[in-house]
Amino acid sequence: MAGTGLFGGTFDPIHYGHLRIAEEFADALALDQVRLMPTANPPHRSGALASNAQRLEMVRLAIADNPRLAADDRELRRDGTCYTIDTLSEMRAALGPSAPLAWLIGADSFLSLDRWHRWRELFDLGCLAVACRPGFELAHWKEVAAPALVKEVLPRIQTLSVTGQVELGTIRLLPTTPLAISSTAIRAQLANGHSARYLVPDAVLDYAGRHLFYRI
Ligand code: ATP
Repeated sequence: MAGTGLFGGTFDPIHYGHLRIAEEFADALALDQVRLMPTANPPHRSGALASNAQRLEMVRLAIADNPRLAADDRELRRDGTCYTIDTLSEMRAALGPSAPLAWLIGADSFLSLDRWHRWRELFDLGCLAVACRPGFELAHWKEVAAPALVKEVLPRIQTLSVTGQVELGTIRLLPTTPLAISSTAIRAQLANGHSARYLVPDAVLDYAGRHLFYRI
């Protein structure tokens, strides 16, 4: 049975690090759709940033030619604080209890998972896939992760042995291609007038250039 994947992020802007792990996530777990979902702008963020609508548009432009990827604006439409637990619960309710559902996060996000609202319950809603990210190598996770994660979550991590394993409650480490690309570095490059070509899809760069939201 083909499954659904969810990949939330700030995507300010979306870059090839995001797109590549979304693609590898879809392949590894045999997902027929991965939903890329811009999360609401956290109030503490500041600086030259894109709006919710602009981040969503950049996601749309980035995935326009990929039928397996879809943009999902549900968190941008919701009033009040958005939590992943609510989003995953909503998706689980829509898909039904036995449909394969997986959610994707990068290794850096995974290492602070214990700060997410009702984080332990997230595992009851789907399979978690963790993508590799340069600078956050597995060998160091025990030293840098919060004690609750080291005790309760790290022992449960499995590498993927069979393509398409999406069991509820499992945590899978995806051996994704390490790409040291970050939105922070891209924003700085653009603000300084440097090129971000080949880090970000051309359509996204054109859009960012036209709207000039990464100026200092
Ligand atoms: P910023 O630099 O603004 O914090 P970011 O590049 O980390 O942004 P986000 O939109 O915050 O991008 O990331 C969304 C998700 O994608 C997170 O789970 C993050 O861990 C993951 N991610 C982002 N970039 C990469 C990358 N190059 N490799 C693997 N995972 C990534």
